[in-house]
Amino acid sequence: ALTIGIVGLPNVGKSTMFNALTKNNVLAANYPFATIEPNVGVVPLPDPRLDTLAEMFGSEKILPATVSFVDIAGIVRGASTGEGLGNKFLANIREADAICQVVRAFDDDDVTHVDGKIDPASDMETINTELILADLQTLEKAVPRLEKEVKGKKVDKAVLDAAVAAQRTLEAGDTLFAKADDLAKQGVDVGLLRELGLMTTKPFLYVFNVDEDQLTDTDLQARLQSLVAPAEAIFLNAKLESEVAELDDDEAAELLESVGITERGLDQLADKGFRTLGLQTYLTAGPKESRAWTIRQGWTAPQAAGVIHTDFQKGFIKAEIVSYDDLVAAGSMAEAKSAGKVRMEGKEYVMQDGDVVEFRSGL
Ligand code: GDP
Repeated sequence: ALTIGIVGLPNVGKSTMFNALTKNNVLAANYPFATIEPNVGVVPLPDPRLDTLAEMFGSEKILPATVSFVDIAGIVRGASTGEGLGNKFLANIREADAICQVVRAFDDDDVTHVDGKIDPASDMETINTELILADLQTLEKAVPRLEKEVKGKKVDKAVLDAAVAAQRTLEAGDTLFAKADDLAKQGVDVGLLRELGLMTTKPFLYVFNVDEDQLTDTDLQARLQSLVAPAEAIFLNAKLESEVAELDDDEAAELLESVGITERGLDQLADKGFRTLGLQTYLTAGPKESRAWTIRQGWTAPQAAGVIHTDFQKGFIKAEIVSYDDLVAAGSMAEAKSAGKVRMEGKEYVMQDGDVVEFRSGL
């Protein structure tokens, strides 16, 4: 499964947020073969459509899609030079599919800030600098090697060009993710550098750990969001999230309302994390369960079938698909069928968000 690595300076609230995330781990017990590591938090992706389907089909169980977060402890200044936990830290980040940076915006005299002041922009720069330096080291080794390989016609020149362009971007102090669009416009394909395991090509996501009264401060949030665009930003209060995680739905709603918000920050985190990873879901429903299945954006029907069972992909014949909205408008699967809303799709079909699916397999 794809994972999002959580990084941040010390004392910004990572552990507090991670504890709130892992209170959801009971959910993972519903999933066959799920092994939960202590440093992994599995968060359900909120999806009210599953409740509607479960009611329509009389499902016994609801199984939402999940997003996995890995706690990557120990970023410090100098991590890129292998100091302290540096090397282990970098190895952990290399394994993650996206990076979630937790940034402190809350003010609390009782909680020491490593640099002595609350300055989100400077904190982000500290962390990004370590990642940029680590990528530059990788490229400094790779470029001379690639030059030789291009001369020996073992590697395409486009790979070397991409490496040099990446180096220039990093030297200017930018992450490769932040400049992905610019690089693509210049005809540079950073994807060619995949084997190098560069860290700043990974999608980034930012969590600002804000004071309770900043949860509704839209000016502040707009300012912080503009610092990280095009990456997504989430604003939450880690302490509040860990309290909310202990409550039942009604009590949680009440507590959220008392600070002026309607949605748990962790739900937003799951939602934006899911999209940052380039994922989407499709739905299945029946008396046993209503369930959301995770696929990559752009996957075809047989690839999607393979997520349920590899035999479904191998023996794929066709998929019976109705869009969630059409199904709900019709009121039942039978009525959707008689209204001609249920389509038979073949091997080339590209899955759409909200597809409710039944696969026909020859195996
Ligand atoms: P980490 O080092 O990034 O993992 O940070 P911790 O989660 O251990 O938090 C460091 C300290 O900040 C702890 O004393 C937390 O209770 C406190 N803390 C975490 N989140 C918040 C918050 O949203 N507001 C306030 N005031 N304190 C927080």
